[in-house]
Amino acid sequence: MPLETVATLYRQLGVTTRTELQAVLREGLLDERVPANAQIARALRRGLAPTGAPDAPADAEGVPLGRAWRIVLPVLDALRKNSADGEEVEAVGGLRRVDPLVAEITLLGSAADPRAMLTALVDLPGVSEILHRSRHKASVLIDDSQVDLKVVPKPARGLAQLWSTGTEAHLAKLVDHARSKGLTLRSTGVFRSGEPVTSACESDAEIYATLGLSQIAPELRVGQDEVEVAAAGGLPDLVSVGDVRGDLHMHSDWSDGQDPIEAMAEAAQALGYEYIAITDHSPHAETRRAVDPARLRRQAAEIERVRARLPQLTILHGVEVDIMSDGTLDLDDATLQELDLVVASLHDRAGHSGEELTARCLAALRHPLVNILAHPTNRLVGHRAGYELDLDAVFATAKSTGTILEIDGAPIHLDMDGAVARRAAATGAMISVDSDSHRASRLGAQMWYGIGTARRGWLRADQVVNTQPVTAIREILACKRANA
Ligand SMILES: [Zn+2]
Ligand SMILES: [Zn+2]
Repeated sequence: MPLETVATLYRQLGVTTRTELQAVLREGLLDERVPANAQIARALRRGLAPTGAPDAPADAEGVPLGRAWRIVLPVLDALRKNSADGEEVEAVGGLRRVDPLVAEITLLGSAADPRAMLTALVDLPGVSEILHRSRHKASVLIDDSQVDLKVVPKPARGLAQLWSTGTEAHLAKLVDHARSKGLTLRSTGVFRSGEPVTSACESDAEIYATLGLSQIAPELRVGQDEVEVAAAGGLPDLVSVGDVRGDLHMHSDWSDGQDPIEAMAEAAQALGYEYIAITDHSPHAETRRAVDPARLRRQAAEIERVRARLPQLTILHGVEVDIMSDGTLDLDDATLQELDLVVASLHDRAGHSGEELTARCLAALRHPLVNILAHPTNRLVGHRAGYELDLDAVFATAKSTGTILEIDGAPIHLDMDGAVARRAAATGAMISVDSDSHRASRLGAQMWYGIGTARRGWLRADQVVNTQPVTAIREILACKRANA
């Protein structure tokens, strides 16, 4: 790109991020009558395919969700402590949409005078470099990741929330919807015949309202059918973290977790949970430690001790057992029979085709002692797409056998992802959202990522089993064994 163009984009238009570049192109702020600019605009459009779509490739660029939030939470804390009354700062973009890979770490502040908030950001002890600073924006490097802060006056907050949350595909659908209502939606407001209808508002909910829509949750803003469904009044009441009563998949230091069972239980109790399941790895997972039949018996005694100490919390004794290459399980039935709950997982492909992997999943689902199929496609965010399973067969078998399909909240999995979860829920199969946490300190955050992923799948609370009390969970578990 010619240097003058970079300078124009940066100095005159204040462009420092991909999202802003998209806005410049969309609104024609780059004068494309100049042939050099037209050529650049074409090249940029080619390179700026929308991100955040559910079918984005596994190696799409971005910071993994968990890491992005770990960078941002202390920044938000520090900026909020430093804010005057009425000033706000929040995460937007992929963070707000709960994207598995966050393409841009973007914060939005609202303040009458942006200077104090921008100064607070660039002065943070974690900042290794200041990449940009202007009247309304600053970009810094924290933990090798770019963090952008834009500060707008309060009346501009709603519009800034909308445009900085994206996605580009969602915004394009909204622009079309506005046009169908005789309105024009731009980054400066909603207009009818050139006259502003809404230009000042503090929440993007007001913009949706102006367009005749209920507010579309950020997790749904991917540019599929969400605008049409909202226009028809059909958006679901999405599950939220407050609905969660328990967590059915987590690890302790009996396998590759960091913390003792007691610490996991205490953290769960602090989150207000009624129940948890301790589900350490079976030997085939090749974690540093694992639970074999003898260790499971000893672990049962340890769980009994923690139960006595924390009587308000129900602790289910489970296991995460590997599904072997022939579809059998890594532990014998007599051992599994002694447990309250069995989570089964594919952890290695063993050179298998999609058909063979599907057969292994179906065998596990049909096993009378398996209650949950964890991270069903075994995708690794940023490294590997999910296995090419016959998902229709997996969902149908889960439903007919009374086995639960999992949305795993570990940032490396986030599996089932939103699109797959939506398909699974439509079949009526049972779904749990679990943290798969390996540390007590991440139990809450990973449940939040899992619930965000469930929301990306349009799930309501009544479609998530662990929003139910432990009595209902016990019935589901008993039912599978009884039907076997
Ligand atoms: Zn696993
Ligand atoms: Zn696990």
